[in-house]
Amino acid sequence: AAKDGGRATYHFFTPELNRRASDRMWTENNLRRALANNELELFFQPQFAVGSRRLVGAEALVRWRQPDGSLIMPGQFIPVAEDTGLILPLGDWVLGEACRRASELLKHQDLLIAVNLSAVQMRRPGLADRVAGWLSAYNVPPEALELEVTESVLMDDSDVVAETFAQLREMGVPLAIDDFGTGYSSLSYLKRFRVDKLKIDRSFVCELKSDDPDSGAIAEAIIGMARSLRMQTLAEGVETEEQFTCLANLGCEQIQGYLLGRPMPYDDFVTFLKNQALVPEVAE
Ligand code: C2E
Ligand code: MG
Ligand code: MG
Ligand code: MG
Repeated sequence: AAKDGGRATYHFFTPELNRRASDRMWTENNLRRALANNELELFFQPQFAVGSRRLVGAEALVRWRQPDGSLIMPGQFIPVAEDTGLILPLGDWVLGEACRRASELLKHQDLLIAVNLSAVQMRRPGLADRVAGWLSAYNVPPEALELEVTESVLMDDSDVVAETFAQLREMGVPLAIDDFGTGYSSLSYLKRFRVDKLKIDRSFVCELKSDDPDSGAIAEAIIGMARSLRMQTLAEGVETEEQFTCLANLGCEQIQGYLLGRPMPYDDFVTFLKNQALVPEVAE
C-alpha cells in the first residue's frame, strides 16, 4: 500500500502542480520580507449611494508592490498568508494603514472605509482591542471603519468570535458581510450577530438583465431580507449601466464596481474624491 501511495503521490506532481507549489513557496518566503520592507499598499475602491450617486465610502484592498513596481494581487498572497499565520501581522498592518488613511480622508469628506478581515483574524482573541487601538491612534471615529467578514466567519460558533463581535458592536464599529449569498444556506446567524450591511456578491450582479425579470431573483430576495432585518445593501462588481438600473429598481442602496470606479492607489483616490465633490448632487 505504501508503494501504491508513493506512486500516486508521484503521479500528482504534474508540471502545473509543481509550478503552483513553487509559486506558493516563493510567496511564503517573500511575503515576510514584504511586510518588513513596507511593500504592501492599500488601494481604495469607491462606494456610492444609488439614489444620489454620491460617494459614501471606499473599500481598502491590499496590494503587494514589488521592488520593480509591479503589483501582486491579494488572491495570490492572502490564502498563503492565511495558511502560514502571516495574515495576523499583515491584517494588523491593513487595519493600522486603513485607519491612518481614513483620518486623512475624513478631512476631505465624511465617508466610511471598509476593511476585509480574514477568518483567521476573527478567531484570534484580542482583535477588538487592536481595532480600538488603531482607531484611537489615528483619532478615527468607530462609525467610519467598517469591517467585512464572510459568512463562514459568522457560522463559526466559537466563543472568541462571538465575544469579538459583541465588543465591536459595543464600540460602534459597523459590520458587513462580504460576498453575501455564496456561502451558507443557514441564515440564523444574521439575527445572532446583528450585521449592518450585506454586500451582494458579484455573481448575482453580473447576471442581471433588464429584459429578464428572473435574472434579479436572488438580488431581490437578498434586498428584501436585508430590509426586513434593517440591514443596508451594497452590490459588488457593478460593471454596466444596465446592472446599475436593475439594482436601483430592486431598491439596492449602494453600489461598488468598475462602472463607477476601480480600486486605485491612495493619491489617485484623493484626486477622485476632490473631483467628485465638484459634481452636483443628483436630486432623489
Ligand atoms: P472582496 O473583498 O470581495 O473585494 C472585491 C474584489 O472585486 C476586489 O478584488 C475588487 O478589485 C474586485 N472588483 C471590484 N469591482 C469589480 C468589478 O466591477 N468587476 C470585477 N470583475 N471585479 C471587481 P481584489 O482587490 O483582487 O481582492 C480580492 C479579494 O482579496 C477580496 O475580495 C478580499 O476577499 C481579499 N482581500 C483584499 N484585500 C484584503 C485585505 O486587506 N485583507 C484580507 N483578509 N483580504 C483581502
Ligand atoms: Mg470585501
Ligand atoms: Mg466581495
Ligand atoms: Mg471575496
